[in-house]
Amino acid sequence: MDIIKNQIKEWLSYDEKESKRLFALAREKRKQVFKNNIFAYGFVYFSTFCRNSCNFCYYRKENQIDRYRKDNAEILKIAKELVDSGVNLIDLTMGEDPVYHKEYFSGLITLADKIKKDLDVPVMLSPGVVEEGIIDEFAKIDADWYALYQETHNRKLFERLRKNQSYDIRMQAKLYAKTKDILIEEGILSGVGETDEDIADSIIAMGEIGAKQLRVMSFVPQDGSPMEAFETPDRSKELKIIAIMRILYPEALIPASLDVDGISGLKARLNAGANVVTSIIPPKSGFVGVANETLDVDEGGRTVEEVRSIVNSLGLEIADNDYYKAFIHSLKAKDL
Ligand code: SF4
Repeated sequence: MDIIKNQIKEWLSYDEKESKRLFALAREKRKQVFKNNIFAYGFVYFSTFCRNSCNFCYYRKENQIDRYRKDNAEILKIAKELVDSGVNLIDLTMGEDPVYHKEYFSGLITLADKIKKDLDVPVMLSPGVVEEGIIDEFAKIDADWYALYQETHNRKLFERLRKNQSYDIRMQAKLYAKTKDILIEEGILSGVGETDEDIADSIIAMGEIGAKQLRVMSFVPQDGSPMEAFETPDRSKELKIIAIMRILYPEALIPASLDVDGISGLKARLNAGANVVTSIIPPKSGFVGVANETLDVDEGGRTVEEVRSIVNSLGLEIADNDYYKAFIHSLKAKDL
């Protein structure tokens, strides 16, 4: 393991010229598995209420901001719009909304089931930490993914980022989902005080827990949060992490999130080896993103159409839904 860890740290130290070689190798690895296919995920952030106080987050409960909780009719409407526009998956995300967490998970489960059946599209559920009984319900409707990010695998740093939350309960929830045949997405933040050693540990840990979608996002400071004065990092670290994850886990799904730099950041992330465009949101829908909640949304920069033109300009294309479904089905049966 030390050999892999040292290799990761060496890659993380690469300068611009060396990084270009790293990115080229990552693209080659992606091509070997996915040919020119890229996946597109529609993002439906249906409740911005949260019971938690993560220090990096705009939606932490203490922040005095406008919040919304969309009803199922509105959620279905945007999901249909996204599917009609060509996304391969609907990601149903919320903060840890106390209403859902106390009494209304059945509403989310009914909705996800309806989206899967009526729109014939895979779903990812991202509702925060939930109890095992709820995960059993996710499994009953054959939910495809459960996304739950540690953000770091350094426990001390975790305590600083996810204030008053349990590292182990969070980890256990996703491990339990995996035993129920639900694919899991794990993720880290770059630029929150971590070292290269921490990043290497995280990259190894994400593989060890059996996550099949691996996400890295650069930290973006949020108004009103305890970390609002932190600087957003240079993007080179995020790009190198994407490339390293691709080289070590060629079959992984690795997001290029529109939520950090909007549409202008897509090309660099795809060139580093990412293969999933996340945070696609229709314009003027009344729904927002997370890290850069409104960037490019109403201007139409986060549509499949915009994404497709960039994807195509790189000689890539957005995969059809049958290819995506077959690929994630095959992922369940193997280790990365
Ligand atoms: S990161 Fe998620 S759990 Fe933490 S405060 Fe933000 S919305 Fe809530």
